[in-house]
Amino acid sequence: MKIYDLTAHEVRDKLRKREISSLDLTETSFKRIEEVENKIDAFITLTKKEALLQAKAFDEAMKRGETLGDLAGIPMALKDNMCTDGILTSCASKILNNFIPPYDATVTKKLKRAGAVIVGKTNMDEFAMGSSTENSAYKTTKNPWDIERVPGGSSGGSAASVAAGEAFYSLGSDTGGSIRQPASFTGLVGLKPTYGRVSRYGLVAFASSLDQIGPFGKDVEDCALVMNTISGHDRMDSTSIERPAEDFTKLMKDGVKGMRIGIPKEFFGEGIDEDIKAMVLEAARSYESMGAVCEEISLPSAKHALSVYYILATSECSSNLARFDGARFGFRAEKFEDFKDMFIKTRSQGFGEEVKRRIMLGTYSLSSGYYDAYYNRGLKVRTLIKQEFEKAFERYDFILTPTAPTTAFKIGEKSDNPLEMYMSDICTVPVNIAGLPALSLPCGFKDGLPVGMQLIGKFFDEACLLRAAFSFEQASGIYRQRATIMGGGANEL
Ligand code: GLN
Repeated sequence: MKIYDLTAHEVRDKLRKREISSLDLTETSFKRIEEVENKIDAFITLTKKEALLQAKAFDEAMKRGETLGDLAGIPMALKDNMCTDGILTSCASKILNNFIPPYDATVTKKLKRAGAVIVGKTNMDEFAMGSSTENSAYKTTKNPWDIERVPGGSSGGSAASVAAGEAFYSLGSDTGGSIRQPASFTGLVGLKPTYGRVSRYGLVAFASSLDQIGPFGKDVEDCALVMNTISGHDRMDSTSIERPAEDFTKLMKDGVKGMRIGIPKEFFGEGIDEDIKAMVLEAARSYESMGAVCEEISLPSAKHALSVYYILATSECSSNLARFDGARFGFRAEKFEDFKDMFIKTRSQGFGEEVKRRIMLGTYSLSSGYYDAYYNRGLKVRTLIKQEFEKAFERYDFILTPTAPTTAFKIGEKSDNPLEMYMSDICTVPVNIAGLPALSLPCGFKDGLPVGMQLIGKFFDEACLLRAAFSFEQASGIYRQRATIMGGGANEL
């Protein structure tokens, strides 16, 4: 195995034993980036200068004998919708092509304080709207397992950067599946925390009642470590929740004996690849052999989740994106006649097609005369979906489903058909609607492409998800497989 194939906790151990310095590690990451980035296109901005300074600071602190956190000195990547003081934060949009935030998002601040080495900002679907990272105004990220395929989205750059060995872990944001679906497509573990667990301050909002930041890691332990660092109450985010700190890595190793797992039949219906269903059911059997009990359950309202999502998320985005008008920050159209014309031209030229489609849909759902028929009704169905989950969790510790209906699809395969693209999130969207935590974990391969399964937990019970995921991971050993990037940079195993 090459250094860049190691997990974050493995390199942490090497750093602590002084087998490697953070500077070496950071240079390894940039060397890997040089080797593969022209094939993968995971990054919008690289921050080599800052990263090397962070690495040197770590090495000096080590020399002084300071005690350093788990993530200290380790190269990582941030999705380009999280604010970084003095560094471009574009949301992969033309409208923010010159936006240099004067402050750090809370997650950025927490990572810096923990000594993380930020190697760059990753590509994404514009404003996190999409499932393939093809909606970026700058580039299309490729899947390291097959560069003719998408890495998933919208956090595709963050996922690809870790799967390709360019960063040891990364952060993504998940509004309807944007961490879990790309994790599934690239063979990683991805966690969407409970709504309110991680501060959204400094995350450029898409749909504020659904957005959450979470980690991508090569294994469960890496995700647990990142959660230890980024979780917690933040007075700058009124929706963040005050809870005692937990050590997710400690809670992870207790096994699943006696756990009760619900398997909702609605998530195994039409449209889900047969082999994927079989793999997830096989995983359920493996849980049974470890002492858990699996039972079929029903979540009848979940089938409405996608429709509800595309009403609520678009409504919220139409309001959130109103601030991009060329007047205060970001891109401004060059030629215009008056103030109003400046708004119109700036927004027409600055936003991509998918973003415009959603602003129009959302504006429609919120307009008088349609508000009750769409937005208000959407909220009611949202409550129903949430109640069904809550009821299920009276009997079950977690719920097991596929993460995505297919493996990674070909670049261009769905870009002309928004509805088909929306279907990629059919299994993940209900979780955001309910505000629950969920994790995607590799459970097999189909035709050489990774397949993920989704574990959905009770509010604030990320610990249970990590524990169940860790048990499966250790039993299956799948997490040891790494992508071989076609056409070069072959990995040794
Ligand atoms: N793919 C979904 C969408 O297009 C979810 C995106 C997300 O989670 N940010 O809206």
